[in-house]
Amino acid sequence: MHTARILNVPFSTKSFHETVSDLAERVMSGEGTHVVTANPEIVMLAQNNQRFQSILDQAYVVPDGIGIVYAAKWLRLPIKDRVTGIELVEAMMERADQHGWKVYLFGASPEVNQLAAEKLANRYPGAAIVGRRDGFFRQEESAEIAQNIAKHKPDLLLVALGAPKQEEWIAAYRDLLQVPLMIGVGGSLDVIAGKVKRAPVLWQRLHLEWLYRLMKQPSRWKRQLAIPRFVWKVLREKRGQRLQSPS
Ligand code: UDP
Repeated sequence: MHTARILNVPFSTKSFHETVSDLAERVMSGEGTHVVTANPEIVMLAQNNQRFQSILDQAYVVPDGIGIVYAAKWLRLPIKDRVTGIELVEAMMERADQHGWKVYLFGASPEVNQLAAEKLANRYPGAAIVGRRDGFFRQEESAEIAQNIAKHKPDLLLVALGAPKQEEWIAAYRDLLQVPLMIGVGGSLDVIAGKVKRAPVLWQRLHLEWLYRLMKQPSRWKRQLAIPRFVWKVLREKRGQRLQSPS
């Protein structure tokens, strides 16, 4: 797979549609793929965390968040468009609907998990939701949860535990799970359940979705401090690039 590194995180250079087709092929071929939709927060988490960096090195990392797309432009990397968690979930569920894939939903509150399962079952009747469980559990229960998921043999596993918990969980259990496609989907089940609204389309177009989320959930500000730190680091890397190749 072609990748472009941003602050050493290997991003897929595929467009949204290419990504969906590639992932669908991986489901058909049974290849075990772990998708991480990475935004600047994720990239910054990997900077001083070797363990998390190696999880990303073994994953299929897609550019989530406009910050990644801008950074790619500044660094002249061939990353075309955003691949957000919610859009990826919807596109993969469409494929699941067409091909009759088995889907397992793991994560979010019990209420959201159930509501999301109902909505997805209604919207994508061809897909089989073979199992689900909420995302609030004790560490000691993890292996049993993974075994239970494996027993259901899903083609697609959506894990909504928030980042980086979901990435760490998938990496820890991917061998046991043996699921062709595992995606960390953050708050996507909350959006599907109708509990959290995405920013209005105009805000999305103006690339201000992050500001909308911050206003709705001010407690995110600490996490979002990663964004200016990310921009600063990317600009420094760009300066380094220029010094290396004065063209
Ligand atoms: N969550 C969970 N278990 C936990 C912590 C969080 O299932 O121990 C769920 C939470 O209910 C929500 C999602 O994980 O559905 C995290 O959403 P958020 O928007 O914070 O995702 P992020 O921005 O981290 O991708």
